[in-house]
Amino acid sequence: MTIEDRAASLAAEFETDESAIREDLENLLAYSVPLEEAVQSLRRKYGDGGGRPASKTVTVDEITASYDAVSIRAVVLAVGRRTIRFDGDERRIIEGELADETGKIAFTAWTDVSLEPGSTVEITHAGVREWQGVPEVNIDDSTTVEQASESLTVPYAVGGERTLAELAPGDRAVTLTVAVVEAETRTIEGSDGETTIRSGTLADETARLPFTDWAGREVLSPNTAVRIENAYVRTYRGVPEVTLAEETTVTPTDASVETAPEAPRRPLGRVIAEGGRFDVEVAGTIIDIQAGSGLIERCPECNRLVQNDRCRTHGAVDGIPDLRTKAILDDGTGTATAILDRDDTESIYGGTLDEAIDAARQAMDQSVVTATLHERLVGRDVIVRGTVSVDEYGATVDVQSFADDDSDPQAIARRLLDEVSP
Ligand SMILES: [Zn+2]
Repeated sequence: MTIEDRAASLAAEFETDESAIREDLENLLAYSVPLEEAVQSLRRKYGDGGGRPASKTVTVDEITASYDAVSIRAVVLAVGRRTIRFDGDERRIIEGELADETGKIAFTAWTDVSLEPGSTVEITHAGVREWQGVPEVNIDDSTTVEQASESLTVPYAVGGERTLAELAPGDRAVTLTVAVVEAETRTIEGSDGETTIRSGTLADETARLPFTDWAGREVLSPNTAVRIENAYVRTYRGVPEVTLAEETTVTPTDASVETAPEAPRRPLGRVIAEGGRFDVEVAGTIIDIQAGSGLIERCPECNRLVQNDRCRTHGAVDGIPDLRTKAILDDGTGTATAILDRDDTESIYGGTLDEAIDAARQAMDQSVVTATLHERLVGRDVIVRGTVSVDEYGATVDVQSFADDDSDPQAIARRLLDEVSP
């Protein structure tokens, strides 16, 4: 940021004349005052004193991380509590969602504040931070929260009630009425020793999503309908995951919950436009396979790809051989890289991992395995089931199952011809 830009943003923050700010700033810098100190000094002069940055009164849709502090009037939509690890300490935080007429925004309070769902509050001098490019309100010791004299009417429901299809990573204090369709208990090695967690799949009539319960609650059992309050949403392999903390409440309910079909068939283009989706079925054609398909080596520590006997995290390691395929799948509406694991790759290759290693050894060339996969896959009409995630490099299908598409007679004829032709 140039001095001019900084002066302009400070002028906007203090709602004062830019040229005066710029002159003062240049003066301070001319005396070798470091920039941040100079800014603090200007805040004391033009801001609301006390060394706190000046607070700008804004509407929710105007909040961006370019403000050091904001003041808003908003309705509390949802409130939840959670204990997190922060700088090695356990901290109790309050989090949830606020709204005014212009929009909704998430908040985190690092201090004990009174926020009741449905009430209208005046929040003065809150910080703004960005999480994955989305601004959120940060309430700390320098923030004041007061009940507003007038209530706001907002076009959003109070209570954090959501359907699974509505959830997005970063949502918190959400309430769900869902059916548990799959669940298992696992013990994992964490920073505090062993933790028992429960994970699986939840469903309602709109979607299915994975969940993880850090409290390992057995009530989350298949064929049970539950009401979950104060859960939050993380990203797991690029799709939303319902996450339950100690403070989350889970109550069995008699409500009958319709469940969305398992792995619905979807056009890739639509799934990509939605930003990815948990457990879908896509029917398309393999148009190519990517470099990195065939024999690979994985790090014994972290399971990631080893190249030239080096793991990016663990340095020089003895890689463990593995087989995988990165196939380009196209269904006419979109394209994705389908990642096939060792089992699927072995069945496409027509041999085991050891047989592939032998073949590569005899040819003194690993690419013979890749060539066989290419020959057997490209042009093949397939149905893949898995979770689609989308990032800046494109769409990826983490393939759970893979089968030939026998629904199109022409496709079957083509495959038979391929098989009999020399
Ligand atoms: Zn590693």
